[in-house]
Amino acid sequence: MKNSPSDIIEVAIPLPLDTTFLYRVPVELMPRTELGKRVLVPFGRRRVTGYVLGFATGEERELREVCDVLDDTPLFTRKELELYRWASSYYLHPLGEVIKAALPAGINVQSRRADANGDGDALTGGKQVKTEPVYGPAAAPPAVDAPRGKASLILDHLRQAEETTAAELRGIFGDCSLQLRRLRELGLVEVEAREIYRDPFRDETVTPDSPLALNAGQSEARDRIVDAIDTGRFAPFLLHGVTGSGKTEVYLQTIAHLLNKERTALVLVPEIALTPQLVNRFRRRFRCGIAVLHSGLSDGERYDEWRRIRRGEVSIVIGARSAIFAPLERIGMIVVDEEHEASYKQSEGFRYNARDLALVRGKMEHACVVLGTATPQVTTWHAATTGKLALLSLPDRVNGLPMPHVEVIDARGHKGEAILPPLVEGIDANLAGGGQTLVFLNRRGFATWLTCEECGHVLRCPNCAVTLTYHQRRNRHVCHYCDYAIPAPSVCPECGSTQVTHLGLGTERIEELVRERFPEARVDRMDRDTTRGKGGHARILRKVAERKTDILIGTQMVAKGHDFPGITLVGIVSVESTLNIPDYRSAERTYQLITQLMGRAGRGLDAGKVIIQTFNPDHYALTHAGTGLLEKFYTTELAFRQETGYPPFVHLAALCLTGTAAPSVEQESAVLAGHLRTLRRELSSRVEILGPSPAPLTKLRGRFRWQTLLKAPERPALHRLLAALRSSYAPPSGIRLQVDVDPVDL
Ligand code: ADP
Ligand code: ZN
Ligand code: ZN
Repeated sequence: MKNSPSDIIEVAIPLPLDTTFLYRVPVELMPRTELGKRVLVPFGRRRVTGYVLGFATGEERELREVCDVLDDTPLFTRKELELYRWASSYYLHPLGEVIKAALPAGINVQSRRADANGDGDALTGGKQVKTEPVYGPAAAPPAVDAPRGKASLILDHLRQAEETTAAELRGIFGDCSLQLRRLRELGLVEVEAREIYRDPFRDETVTPDSPLALNAGQSEARDRIVDAIDTGRFAPFLLHGVTGSGKTEVYLQTIAHLLNKERTALVLVPEIALTPQLVNRFRRRFRCGIAVLHSGLSDGERYDEWRRIRRGEVSIVIGARSAIFAPLERIGMIVVDEEHEASYKQSEGFRYNARDLALVRGKMEHACVVLGTATPQVTTWHAATTGKLALLSLPDRVNGLPMPHVEVIDARGHKGEAILPPLVEGIDANLAGGGQTLVFLNRRGFATWLTCEECGHVLRCPNCAVTLTYHQRRNRHVCHYCDYAIPAPSVCPECGSTQVTHLGLGTERIEELVRERFPEARVDRMDRDTTRGKGGHARILRKVAERKTDILIGTQMVAKGHDFPGITLVGIVSVESTLNIPDYRSAERTYQLITQLMGRAGRGLDAGKVIIQTFNPDHYALTHAGTGLLEKFYTTELAFRQETGYPPFVHLAALCLTGTAAPSVEQESAVLAGHLRTLRRELSSRVEILGPSPAPLTKLRGRFRWQTLLKAPERPALHRLLAALRSSYAPPSGIRLQVDVDPVDL
């Protein structure tokens, strides 16, 4: 690649292809051809859109010619291309598809003028920018007789008003699409589709505020980040502090320092935490332009925000996962709030992790990266204690409230009782004292496993230390990491009890029980079913805030981001569904969940209480929950990871084959694993190959799934093997291969 223009360009095409392509640019298109623009190119017998990566020289071959240049200004910079290239090679995903994923979907109709034909959505083809038709009188009306009736009134109105939107016309004249069509046919009226700028938070009013006087922990954190900003070098931090310890205030004050230096800030938050309240905290503090990116925006809204960023009109971008690709320049700081959140991982298509890419982009931009959380990932904690991240701690809640007290209740031997007496008593007492209660139940487990209700024993894989998953078809308990399998036992292998059951409780069942036990209480439920409609979320939360709910039953949805000041008791009724998920991180997830729930309890005037019902009362994820015992938890868990061979001590990749016919997917998985083992021998690789085995979701959207897991002692070994696989293996037609580097949901 050379900087000086030649007439040959390198183009990435958003198709599942591992290579890029060279095209010749015809003379007339040369002036408009630039890195970062889209071009229309011939590809096979089709024409496709590609992205210009730069100019190339010295190519003698006959090359096909570019048909058109599609953009007036580049969509990405050389620096952004560097990030895309990095992500493409690290995640083994085609560059063209990476670029497509990094750009907003609404871009497809950029600069395309609409053929407005009434007052519906005017655009066809591609994703839609939101437009509204704007009507005006024709500049030079042709010599025809003006129509009479309603249509002439409309015409008069248009001649006076110059321009009117369809909605306004409807407001005055009622439905008038017939008349408008007639007027257009006569050439008396012109219509144009105008892009509407949509500000998702336009209705919020903002009162400016000023920085708060920081406490000792916050001051130290701010000073250390400010120092790093001043050196202008890449500096990664872990900002560890419980919810309410003042992390956001630290972000605000360090960003203020950054803005004075003419640099910009990218703030990533989990989707669910991206509320108007959070955005308003930034708006109150800063006069500068702020862009907001989240999945609640229409393609058009998202595209509007993206363009404001591209044009350099904003200094702060707040967004969920995909905002890591925001076209922000001069980045001085990237914040990843709640860095432990699984939602930073894109779980389909281009499987990137925005939290990890924040570190990569931060390094490229010589920026500070601040990972904030109350419950760091085990790998993050390890990085902080081994000096790869600088650790900043905010040990206390700003308001001085103590963390709630945790009580672990032994559920063994209580067959069939969903809510045990100590929790019933706790709720009673809390109701009597006027407090609100949260009854929490994790429903995310799609797998079923066996638990002994007498002794709490669960079946685990002797090779992989993860829970075995029951497969009805085979009537076996199977490890989906290595395919170890045993027949379903009828008695507990540990204590001989016959009380072995597949645990599984629904929120609806719990709601029923709660209503039965506490008939006077006002009960509400928050889960995927009750929050489906628009505003469903907000309605439930408002009722809790207004104290119109005494007992809220909720799933993991409530554990994140929301503030429930009146909740003084949290009961966790089935911690097993987190503790026993067949995933090597089940202990980490349980620890995080409990700590996050503790953050929900007693944020108001009263210190709260957390009651956990469990079949595993001695598990370290439960006994060490709570901030005081944090280091004990991480030490125990890291020892487990080292012993069993999991991150951060090894690096993982999951290869998943999917197809619509179960037998062929299973057969091909054996072929793939065999091929990998051959490559391993040829490369003298130390990568461990586990499986193939049925994936935890054995069937998803009609496709059967089998996976092979790679475990590598160091990253280069993993990428060498994956690269060798890419160049020597392709699945037969009908079967797809998904590569997931650093998988989150195994
Ligand atoms: P976190 O992001 O860790 O949850 P926040 O920054 O949101 O914490 O702080 C929690 C609450 O305490 C907020 O209402 C915030 O305005 C307030 N707060 C933060 N820092 C201070 C401070 N130094 N003095 C007084 N109030 C503070
Ligand atoms: Zn048992
Ligand atoms: Zn196994």
